[in-house]
Amino acid sequence: MYELTQEDRMLKDLVARFVNDELMPLEQKILARDAAGEGPLSFVREELEHLDARAKELGLWGLDAPAEFGGSDLPVTSMIGVNEELGRCSLIYRFPPDSPNLHMLMKVCSEEQKAEYLAPYARGEKRSAIAISEPGGGGDPASMRARAQRARGGWLINGRKIWVSGLDRADFVIVMAVTDPEKRARGGISAFLVDKGTPGFTILRRIPMIGGRTTFELAFDDCWVPESKLLGQEGNGYGPMQLRLSTRRVQIGAICVGRAKRALDMLVEWAPQRKTFGVPLSERQAIQWWMADAATKIHATRLMTYDAAEKVTRGEEARTEISMLKVFATEMATEIVDHAQQAFGAMGMTREMPFHLMAAQLRVMRIYEGPTEVHRMLVARHVLQRRF
Ligand SMILES: Cc1cc2nc3c(=O)[nH]c(=O)nc-3n(C[C@H](O)[C@H](O)[C@H](O)COP(=O)(O)OP(=O)(O)OC[C@H]3O[C@@H](n4cnc5c(N)ncnc54)[C@H](O)[C@@H]3O)c2cc1C
Repeated sequence: MYELTQEDRMLKDLVARFVNDELMPLEQKILARDAAGEGPLSFVREELEHLDARAKELGLWGLDAPAEFGGSDLPVTSMIGVNEELGRCSLIYRFPPDSPNLHMLMKVCSEEQKAEYLAPYARGEKRSAIAISEPGGGGDPASMRARAQRARGGWLINGRKIWVSGLDRADFVIVMAVTDPEKRARGGISAFLVDKGTPGFTILRRIPMIGGRTTFELAFDDCWVPESKLLGQEGNGYGPMQLRLSTRRVQIGAICVGRAKRALDMLVEWAPQRKTFGVPLSERQAIQWWMADAATKIHATRLMTYDAAEKVTRGEEARTEISMLKVFATEMATEIVDHAQQAFGAMGMTREMPFHLMAAQLRVMRIYEGPTEVHRMLVARHVLQRRF
C-alpha cells in the first residue's frame, strides 16, 4: 500500500548519498571535537552554511515549498523518505526551508505577507522560529498568557516565551498570543510575525539543552507591530499552529524510523563479530529478540508515518493518529538505540560513538511538540469517546 513512487525512491537515494557523503563525516568530526572538549556538540555556522550550499547544489532545497517560489511542491508523503534518511545522522539537519513553519505560512499568509515572508522563506533566504511555550507551561498552549491588544492601528504584544529553537539564525519569529481571553483556543489566540530587532522584543537568554540543542527565552514588552503582521485572521491562530505541529510530528515519526534503523544496522554489524563466552552475540536469543522486535517496530512506525502523512495530504483530521505516532515513534527509537548501545558494552558508553547523542536527541523529542503524556491523554480521550 505504501510503495514509494520511482521519483520518491530516487529522491530518498539522493538524500542517502548526501547523508553518507556530507553528514556522516561531519558527525564523526563533531563527536571527536566534543569528546576532546574542543567545540560544541552541534553544527557551527560555517558547517551549516557548507551543508546548505551542498544541499542547494544537489537540488535538495525547497522540496515541499510552492513551485511559484521555486520549490518542488512535494507532498508530505514524499518528505518521509527524505526525513528517514536525514534521521540516520545523530545531528539534526533539515533542508531549507524547515517544513512546519513553511506549511503554517502557506496556509495563512496574506498577499503582502507572501511577498515579505513566505517567498524569501521558501527560497531559504529568510529563517524563522516559533514562540508558543511560556515559563508557565508549554504542554497546554491554550493556557498561554502572552497578550496582544489592539493599539495605534496595530497590535501591542506583552509576555514571555521560552524554549524557542532556531532563534540564532532566525530573521523573524511567529509569536502566538491571546487576543480574546474568553475564547482562547476557540477563537481567542492569534499569530503574529515579529521581526528580530522590533523594539520591545528582547532575547533574555540562551539556554543550553541536552543533545547539543539550544533554545532561547524571549520577552515582549509593549512590542508594537502594525496590522499587517497579524498572521491569518484575528483569533484564528490556533488551527494553523496545530497544522504546523502536525507537520513536525509526522517529520519526527520519519526521523525516528531513520534513527532506529541506523541503531539496528549498527547492532546487526556488531553482534556477529563480538564473542562472549565463546559465542557471537548474534547467536544469543536475547540479542536476536532485540533485532526482531526492532525490525517489527520500525516497520510499524513507518506504516503509521505514511498513514498519518496521507491523511494530512488529503486534508483529513488526523490528530489522534499523529499523537499515536509521536508517542510510538519516539519510544520505539529510544528503546532500539538503548538496546544497540547496551550490546556495544563499554564501547557504547564512549562519547566517540553516536549513541549518547542519538539518545539525548530522542529524549528531547519526548518533550517538544507536546510531551508524551499529553499525547497519550489526547488518544485516551478519543478512545473514551468510542471514536476508535
Ligand atoms: C529541545 C526543545 C526545543 C523546543 N523548541 C520550542 C520552540 O521552538 N518553540 C516553542 O514554543 N516551544 C519549544 N519547546 C518547548 C516544548 O514544546 C515544551 O517544552 C513542551 O510543550 C512541554 O511544555 P513544558 O516544558 O512547559 O512542560 P509542562 O507543560 O509543564 O509539562 C511538564 C510535564 O508534565 C507532564 N504532563 C503535562 N501535562 C500532562 C497531562 N495532561 N497528563 C499527564 N502528565 C502531564 C509531562 O510529563 C510533561 O513533560 C522546545 C522544547 C525542547 C525541549
